[in-house]
Amino acid sequence: GDEFAILLDDLDRAEDALEVSFRILKELRAPFHLNGHELFATASIGIALSGTGYERAEEVLRDADTAMYRSKAHTEKRPVVFDPTMHATAMVVLRLETDLRRAVERHEFELFYQPIVALKSGALWGFEALVRWRHPERGLVYPTEFLPLAEETGLILHIGQWVLREACRQTRDWQDRFPRRRHLGVSVNVAGQQLAHGGFVDRVDEVLGDTGLAPGSLRLEITEGVIMETPEATTAVLERLRERDVRLHIDDFGTGYSSLSHLHRFPVDTLKIDRSFVAGLDARGDNGEIVRTIVALAHSLNMEVLAEGVETRQQLVALKNLNCQYGQGFFFARPLERSAAEEWVARPVHC
Ligand code: C2E
Ligand code: CA
Ligand code: CA
Repeated sequence: GDEFAILLDDLDRAEDALEVSFRILKELRAPFHLNGHELFATASIGIALSGTGYERAEEVLRDADTAMYRSKAHTEKRPVVFDPTMHATAMVVLRLETDLRRAVERHEFELFYQPIVALKSGALWGFEALVRWRHPERGLVYPTEFLPLAEETGLILHIGQWVLREACRQTRDWQDRFPRRRHLGVSVNVAGQQLAHGGFVDRVDEVLGDTGLAPGSLRLEITEGVIMETPEATTAVLERLRERDVRLHIDDFGTGYSSLSHLHRFPVDTLKIDRSFVAGLDARGDNGEIVRTIVALAHSLNMEVLAEGVETRQQLVALKNLNCQYGQGFFFARPLERSAAEEWVARPVHC
């Protein structure tokens, strides 16, 4: 949709291709005037040289494409000429993609559960469900390694749907087997594509219906960045979820440039303070300005605050002093396998 191919023939030297691409970049740097607006566009350029001995046009396009993605990855935009070592990297990605498709078919995913506690009482407030891939050869693979590719390939829709269903099923199972936990909550991460895909609300309805989990026990985590990409469209979906009493949490809050006017209109229950703001806290509450500001903001908007990445007792003390209600982090527990999480569920409610 947004890619163009340019064929240059009769070049004397490889450098000529680079020169042409610098010229293109320079042209594109000037603003475009559209309906009275001034717009800026950027471009990434990848170059494949025919001297490499191609037999098919597809191969040239493939290598130019690989080089173009390499160029995209650089912060300063400059054209990149394909070289065969890139092919090896591209093969690794391709392999990962094949594996990932197979993983979806063979259900190789697993959920880990990280406890979230109420800071005042220390009581378990719920879990965040975090996906892992149990790769047959590589063992446990973490989401940061496969989710970007899952998003690029659209596989995130399948994975996300499975995560939602499994997290709801498991939580309902715990609620049933441990009656003191009948209000146990579960936080599920939702990718932008899932939200953008029409029918997300229907899918949530279906999962809640099938698993019997009360909507009030489900907390959907949506990053601030995703919400701010399309605030109007997202708000419409969030409102429908809110009507059902599903809880909404803004993930990684503080990193996504929320506009305050939007924030005010989002039907959100909880702001999840990004762990980068928790990392610098000490017991006296020094470096707590941002946390303090977010807590004040949340409370004035009738939202609750959850701090992630709590790693030390000092941070815990500081967060309590700053009136932050909930916390999650290695200080309490790492993300746990189901059986270890169940030990938390089985503990006395207040401990
Ligand atoms: P996130 O939503 O911000 O999840 C929290 C991440 O921080 C988790 O990494 C967790 O293991 C880690 N963490 C928890 N406590 C601490 C702590 O005290 N210190 C530090 N340094 N880290 C802590 P994980 O499990 O590797 O997940 C990474 C990201 O992958 C998540 O970030 C989330 O954006 C995404 N993700 C995970 N599961 C899913 C899923 O099912 N669906 C979607 N769409 N995204 C997911
Ligand atoms: Ca999260
Ligand atoms: Ca987060």
